[in-house]
Amino acid sequence: EMKNRLIIISNRLPLTIEQNGDEYKLKPSSGGLVSAISSYLQKQGKGSVSEDIWVGYPGCDERLWNNAERPEGSNTDHNFLPVFIDDDTYQHYYDGFSNSLIWPLFHYFPSFAQYDDADFEAYMSANKIFADTLAQHIRHDDMVWIHDYHLMPLAGMLRKRFPWLTIGFFLHIPFPSYELFRVIPKKWQHEILKGIAGANLIGFHTIDYASHFLTSIERVLKVQRDGQHFVWDDRRIKVDAFPISIDFDKFYQAADSPDVAAFRETYTTLKDGKQLIFSVDRLDYTKGLENRLKGYHQFLSDNPDYIGKVVFILVIVPSRDAIDKYAEQKKMIDEYIGNLNSSMGSITWQPVIYHYNSLSFDELIALYTSCDLALITPLRDGMNLVAKEFVASRKDQRGVLILSEMAGAARELTDALQINPNDTAEIATMIKQALEMPEAEQAKRISAMQNCIKHYNVDTWASDFFDNLTATVSHQLNTQPALLD
Ligand code: UDP
Repeated sequence: EMKNRLIIISNRLPLTIEQNGDEYKLKPSSGGLVSAISSYLQKQGKGSVSEDIWVGYPGCDERLWNNAERPEGSNTDHNFLPVFIDDDTYQHYYDGFSNSLIWPLFHYFPSFAQYDDADFEAYMSANKIFADTLAQHIRHDDMVWIHDYHLMPLAGMLRKRFPWLTIGFFLHIPFPSYELFRVIPKKWQHEILKGIAGANLIGFHTIDYASHFLTSIERVLKVQRDGQHFVWDDRRIKVDAFPISIDFDKFYQAADSPDVAAFRETYTTLKDGKQLIFSVDRLDYTKGLENRLKGYHQFLSDNPDYIGKVVFILVIVPSRDAIDKYAEQKKMIDEYIGNLNSSMGSITWQPVIYHYNSLSFDELIALYTSCDLALITPLRDGMNLVAKEFVASRKDQRGVLILSEMAGAARELTDALQINPNDTAEIATMIKQALEMPEAEQAKRISAMQNCIKHYNVDTWASDFFDNLTATVSHQLNTQPALLD
């Protein structure tokens, strides 16, 4: 029945630009979303979906884009539609409104939120550039899927020009309680909510985020919700939870790869009989890095037996360093680790091994599968894929996950040891419990969580969203035939 084109819209195109002297090369990058959509298209089979088009900012200007070497071979599976945004607008839209207002506010850091009219104007302009670019290419029978907080006004802008377009919107971060949302200027509240309400289907990671969104819709747009639906602009809109997931098999099988095993060998030497704690996050104040270090510090102080017998490998992937709050966060972590290593460590032992860089996939899997404990303690996190990846990669049925109850993933991963990230004493106690957990209990918990991720993997997530989107639209056509005329 579905013979439409799929248009996937996100802030950035899934491409990286490689520079070699004066030559530029566009290389497709494969994030979770890209592989989920590819796999969905493959399963649908040829002839059902005619093609997919990816739309986003390419990370360069039009001149460079036109001169850069194009992807070759199988990489040309996807069509890319670049949206060119000038540097100044992009900076206010991306670093400004998106990451200095929406990001902190939606992650419950209202005191970090920066209110700037120029940022808001740029946010609306950038979304309008997306809408204008799309307007030249879109057909009424396309299925459009818009992603994330950078593009909240876009569905509304497209809806004005294409009343019958099928539009889905998915938010990859939390939607906060109305008490947080209401603090931004009313005009901004309206633009954001009317924008999202341009979609036919609106997806969030958890039912809590969906319900916070519906409350904001009721209070701000003064519409009455009807369970998971509301009517806006003569359209019945569905709101639901679609917890994003991972390619379970890829992580489960990766443990066996010889390259991963080679890295694991190096870590075994480093471990030297000690127990290993591991964490990896983007640099972000939402990730709870300081409270994690405090909890570990307290664990060592409370349990001196463990001194010299445990090592914490803390990996931080550089992120958004143009924003002051991120630079401050980095400084704080550097100082904390320096103090901890000098006060608790010795000539022959350091409590924390700190790596401020990204990891290759093989290194990441080797660390997931070498550690005894993954310590994931965000203060807020929309989902947290690292938690799911760690669990999936433990084919050996070993290892313990400590997970913050403030992560979206905590809803599904109920067999993790869950902690309140603000409770340093609880983190300290849980670390001890985790390091002393019998192997049988580790296996029982890992296996239960693996079943959950295997069942609802990233393919399931994408199909679930698309099936719902298709159903929402057929439902509208069936129940409102008069509107078609
Ligand atoms: N990751 C990465 N580079 C690294 C280490 C990790 O790209 O050097 C990946 C990791 O595998 C995971 C993602 O980054 O898929 C982080 O996703 P998560 O949902 O945990 O947090 P986010 O960064 O989206 O807030």
